[in-house]
Amino acid sequence: MQPKRSVVRRITVLLLLLMVLVVGSFFLSSYIISKSSAYTEVVNLSGKIRGEVQRYAKLYFAGEREKLPLLAEEIELYLERLKVEVEALRLPFWDFDKSLRPAEVENCWENLRKLTSLEPDPKLRRLILKISEDCWFKADEVTDLYQELAARNLKILEFAYYLLLFLILSLNLFLVYASHRGQIKKLEFRAYYDSLTGVLNRGAVLEIFQLFSKERYMYPMSVVLFDIDDFKKINDTYGHAVGDEVLRKVAEEVKRHLRRSDIFARWGGEEFLVLLPETDLEGAKAVAEKIRQTLKSLRIPSLKGREITASFGVTEIREGETLHEAIIRADRALYEAKRSGKDRVVVAEA
Ligand code: GH3
Ligand code: MG
Ligand code: MG
Repeated sequence: MQPKRSVVRRITVLLLLLMVLVVGSFFLSSYIISKSSAYTEVVNLSGKIRGEVQRYAKLYFAGEREKLPLLAEEIELYLERLKVEVEALRLPFWDFDKSLRPAEVENCWENLRKLTSLEPDPKLRRLILKISEDCWFKADEVTDLYQELAARNLKILEFAYYLLLFLILSLNLFLVYASHRGQIKKLEFRAYYDSLTGVLNRGAVLEIFQLFSKERYMYPMSVVLFDIDDFKKINDTYGHAVGDEVLRKVAEEVKRHLRRSDIFARWGGEEFLVLLPETDLEGAKAVAEKIRQTLKSLRIPSLKGREITASFGVTEIREGETLHEAIIRADRALYEAKRSGKDRVVVAEA
């Protein structure tokens, strides 16, 4: 079976979507991973600054002031790199206040640098100690903060992977469904419709009756059973293909003359059934009579002017009785119609 073009188009679109998802998630994850390594760099730098500031204060208090300028240069280099990394990372707006913290370390460092470059004064000792502690604390805060952010980033990455996995799986399931939908629809159709005439089949009527019979307002309900007369002769005279065509045309014609609420089905062979909800015996008899006349006046070119007649059995379905019970009565009436000369409607009292 050739798949429909619309199905092929849909599958192509889905495959493209799948590709976009995979490529998109590749770029997204490499972006997140690159951010993660930048976070790690910030954590490293602030950790180094924290340690060096402490060393700087220690050397200062030990009186080894000649070692300070070199160390200060180193710290400033780290601070510069920290600034560049933090700017490149650009935290989201809701983390804006946090992005100011590295600058606080820098301010603190400048204060410390200024105070330590003055002539040593015992009065300044306490202040320098306090500021060096403060710098250590601020650098420590940056280390913690960026460690936290790196962890959050990894969580996002993990979530993105699960989401992607979920999307790919659902898309796959959908693809499988889409590629089989044509066949599924065909099977569904086959389950309820007759393949030759396209009208309902016997199984469908049984199911529909189950639903109707539960609703009291559907009563009075009647059934009409009819069978094409001498159909075997039509087959024998014009061939099986013409016989099939007659069945199709008969079904089409009857369907056109029924109400939407009437249930019309091929009961088997050249026998059809009409289930008429909200219709009493009189009404059903009139429907049968109308179908009989409609078929009689139907002209099918292949039959070269030959009339189609059918015999009808009609009965009303009693509330509480099964369709099978009613059909036995309708069938007896139909048999009576055949026996008494065909092309007629016979009614069976419930
Ligand atoms: P009666 O007037 O008593 O109903 O006679 P009849 O010839 O219509 O009835 P009978 O039961 O003797 O023959 C029915 C024929 O219908 C025999 C069968 O081959 C034919 N038939 C059943 N189903 C189909 C079908 O789907 N297509 C065709 N072409 N013929 C079918
Ligand atoms: Mg027949
Ligand atoms: Mg028959």
